[in-house]
Parts: sequence; C-alpha cells; structure tokens
Amino acid sequence: MPTVPAVSHGWLARLQARLNAALPATLRPARPTIAEPLWAETLARLPFLDYLSDDERRQLKDLCEALLQKKPLAGVGDFDLDDASAALIAAQACVLVLKLDLSLYDDMSAILVYPDAFSVRQQHLDEAGVMHEWDEELAGEAVDQGGAVLLSWQDLMPAPEPGLPWNLVIHEFAHKIDMGRGAANGYPPFLEGLHSRAALAGWPEAFSAAYEDFCERVDLLEDSLPEDFDPAREDHAVLYEELAAELPLDPYAASDPAEFFAVASEAFFVAPLPLASEYPAVHRLLAAYYRQDPLAARQLSR
Ligand SMILES: [Zn+2]
Repeated sequence: MPTVPAVSHGWLARLQARLNAALPATLRPARPTIAEPLWAETLARLPFLDYLSDDERRQLKDLCEALLQKKPLAGVGDFDLDDASAALIAAQACVLVLKLDLSLYDDMSAILVYPDAFSVRQQHLDEAGVMHEWDEELAGEAVDQGGAVLLSWQDLMPAPEPGLPWNLVIHEFAHKIDMGRGAANGYPPFLEGLHSRAALAGWPEAFSAAYEDFCERVDLLEDSLPEDFDPAREDHAVLYEELAAELPLDPYAASDPAEFFAVASEAFFVAPLPLASEYPAVHRLLAAYYRQDPLAARQLSR
C-alpha cells in the first residue's frame, strides 16, 4: 500500500464556523443542549464508556452537542427519533473522535436511522462485464463521497451481553473516518498536528499481516464446519458461534481490509483484550490513531 502524505483537515469546519459567525445570531443554527439527566442516562446505557474520566465525559458531551448542531440526525419515514436515541447515537459516534477532530465527519451529509434492517440495491460488474444487481438487507451503511451514515435502530442497541465486540455505530463511523482518503480501505487519514507519524509508522504492513493471518483463521474455521453446514439450522448456527468466539474479532472482519479496520475499531473500544493479545501491533496502532487506550485506562482504574 503506498504511503499517503498526511493531510490537513478541519478547513471545512473552520469555513462553516466563519460563515455561521458572519450570520446574524437569529439565523445561526442553535447548538442543542443535552440535559444532564439525559446525559447520565445515556452513559448508563453505554457501559463500555466506563473507562472515560469525568473530564472526558464532559468533552464527549460537548462533542455530541457540536455534532448534533452540525449534522442532521433523523428517523427515516415515520420512525420517530427522540432526544434519548439521538444522544445514544451521538455518544457512540463521537467517542471515536474524542481525541481527534469532528472534521473527520465533515464528509457526511446526515445520520439516518431506520426502525429495522433495511434493503439496499447493490450492483457488481463481474469480470465478464455482466452487471449483477440484488437487494441486500443491511443493519448499517456508511455511504462514501459525502453520503449519509444509515443505521438500523433495532441493531444499534448496545450488545445484549456486555463484552461482546459488537457495536454498529462505531463500525459505521470508523468507515466514515476511513473514507477520509477516498474509498474505505482500512488506511484512514492521519491528521496534521494531532497524529504522531512515528507512532503510526508501519500501519499498512501491520494491518496487512494481521488481516492475512485473520483470513487464514476464518478459512480454517470454515474448513472445520460439517459438509452439510447450513447457517439456518439452529445447531449449526450455535456451532458456528462457538467456533467464532475463539477468534479475537468477528469473522466479518475477513471480508476486506476496510471491514477489518471497522471491526477492529469496534473491538478496540468495546472488548479490546483479545485484539490486544492476538494482534498487539494493530491494537497499539489503533491506540495511536484514536489517541486513547480504553484497555489501558480500564486496567489503570482497577
Ligand atoms: Zn462495514
């Protein structure tokens, strides 16, 4: 993978701020305020944020309010999104950029929430030049080139069992960050003045090595399944889940390098221990990228 020079972000946000400042106060979009009781309730619903200090929780709240001011967040169709749902989504989206810059989400028109999984028309041109089209059911999607982040409300509720490395909002917003260099490829933009190039050196090599190793492990898992494996059969689904639980990441991470980065980001925030022990270089690079280390912070506070 070629080394891409660091790019300076934040100009669009600065321009927006200047335009807003030039507007009469009555025309400036009001900055929403998340009331303290609602903020406390939001944090209680997201136990994985337990590693944040009191100051960081306040910074996260500020960032959520800034995000909700800058970007429309709405239910699709007649799905009604209340303040509590908006705060729950914003907190998970903003924790990724808590030590970075909200400008990483400049290339996002809106956050749109469907009540349930939604269907998206997919297209693929095969090697023979034949266009294949099909409808795919999705729980979330980050649309590139200025598109929205789409989320299914049913699927974004925090994982039923704490500790599962599973978080839809973190996954989709990691894709949005990754799209800062163009199409998502698992190599997000480095921010001038915030990222240490020395600490992030070796990113492409470390991620490629971990991704290839992980793909081999998923291949081995699939080879060990019964010949008549059918994911719709309950006993087979249980067997698959048991085997997948041995892996440090959800097998979906083997789809491509962009998915590997998004799934590793979920694990990094929600359940980092298996990732840190099996792919320590990836864990270290993610800590340098997000400029925080939930695993170390939790171990320190114990
Ligand atoms: Zn994805």
